Amino acid sequence: MTKKITLVGGGLSGGLLSVFLARRGYEVFVYERRADMRSGRYEGGRSINLALSNRGIRGLEKAGIAKEILDIGIPMTGRMMHSREGNLAYQPYGKDGQAIYSVSRGGLNIRLLQLADAFPNIHMFFDYRCTYCDPETGITRYITPEGNEVEDKADIVIGTDGAFSAVREAFMRGRFNFSQTFENHGYKELEITADELGNFRLNKNALHIWPRSSYMMIALPNPGGNFTCTLFLAWEGETSFDTLNSSEAVKAFFNREFADAVPMMPGLTDDFFGNPTGTLATFRCYPWVKGNAALLGDSAHAIVPFYGQGMNCCFEDCIVLDELIDECDHNWQEILKRYQESRKPNADAIAALALQNFREMRDLVGSEAFLHRKHIEHDLTELYPHLFKSQYELVTFHTTPYEYALKMGAKNDRLLDAIIDGKLEDKMGDQSYMEPLIKEMLA
Ligand SMILES: Cc1cc2nc3c(=O)[nH]c(=O)nc-3n(C[C@H](O)[C@H](O)[C@H](O)COP(=O)(O)OP(=O)(O)OC[C@H]3O[C@@H](n4cnc5c(N)ncnc54)[C@H](O)[C@@H]3O)c2cc1C
Repeated sequence: MTKKITLVGGGLSGGLLSVFLARRGYEVFVYERRADMRSGRYEGGRSINLALSNRGIRGLEKAGIAKEILDIGIPMTGRMMHSREGNLAYQPYGKDGQAIYSVSRGGLNIRLLQLADAFPNIHMFFDYRCTYCDPETGITRYITPEGNEVEDKADIVIGTDGAFSAVREAFMRGRFNFSQTFENHGYKELEITADELGNFRLNKNALHIWPRSSYMMIALPNPGGNFTCTLFLAWEGETSFDTLNSSEAVKAFFNREFADAVPMMPGLTDDFFGNPTGTLATFRCYPWVKGNAALLGDSAHAIVPFYGQGMNCCFEDCIVLDELIDECDHNWQEILKRYQESRKPNADAIAALALQNFREMRDLVGSEAFLHRKHIEHDLTELYPHLFKSQYELVTFHTTPYEYALKMGAKNDRLLDAIIDGKLEDKMGDQSYMEPLIKEMLA
């Protein structure tokens, strides 16, 4: 009978999963490499804020903290595109009232740890780095803050230790498929500051995008009135992190490409040279289960951040695993088997969607043709909600499987092509004409 479960990694996945498992009566041991964030020694390094949407919200609802997180999150109801000339174009993400939320990564992780702390059957160890895992026996080893090595044995070990997972390393010994694909682009976090009165200098209820084909910048609002900007840029080449190697080069580049943002970025060059440059990669692997160990969250499926779904997908993993505990009556071999079978196709789908969205955000969102297409798509969602849902809506505002959203996106594209190529815009309101067409194209 499974009693003790070890989670390697106390990040977003580990935090949420520990709570789900503890509620079902398991003794949960969480080993986290970093210091306890609640001590104020939070090491950033990754995005400061994250876009939280329905799948993630559902996970937080199950943990009982969705409302408080949404109360301090900032709703973003659409994209605001900034042209080189500083012209703005707004595009809603969904219907009225639908929004994604900008939330603090550190704040959310801390809240999950606080929640976990309230359970006497969750035991957390910080500054413990996992160095070894034996999936068959459930033995794991750690370097403690004092530099000693300690060993732990559990009935089940779950690797919630992110993209560069130590638990996954152990899976590598044996029959295991693994690939990592790094993008030619990296990312750098910068800041648009609040004004002198602490107010937002841009519309706070939008995700701002400066699409420039081979590079782009985005900005998400923070409760302090500032925005965290992320510049996505090639590592090498004519305009790249390689060539932006002096303050003059950075200023010239920003003045040329993002001129409207520059006056709002007083720390631009300090941030540019002071902040690390992050890598962007997709990690795929299978199986996610070996013996008595499993991978969950980024350790199983790290994706590029362009759909804002990485964490949302991880939280959905936690929900699925939690529900399987009931369905399989605590039989962990069955739970883990069904977990990987159900999640792998969906993880592959969101990985593909995230890569597709990179192109859309970078190349397309600024173009007239794209805006026209989005306009028609929006009209379809408003006029025929019983028949048509955009791919973005399916991914972000619903919890239908990602695999389904990927498939429907291709069908939606066919329908949009038929409307645009056939110049059927005038017929959009004609139900007797449109409904059979929609049904046929989406069948
Ligand atoms: C730039 C960027 C922007 C993003 N934006 C979004 C967004 O808007 N929306 C969204 O949904 N997702 C977003 N994501 C994705 C999201 O950050 C990840 O999907 C999510 O953090 C994964 O959670 P995780 O707990 O599985 O892994 P992680 O968050 O990486 O946590 C893993 C934890 O394991 C610990 N650990 C690692 N190795 C060991 C070890 N050997 N021993 C012990 N502990 C260990 C780490 O210290 C960490 O605390 C973004 C990612 C990036 C890089």
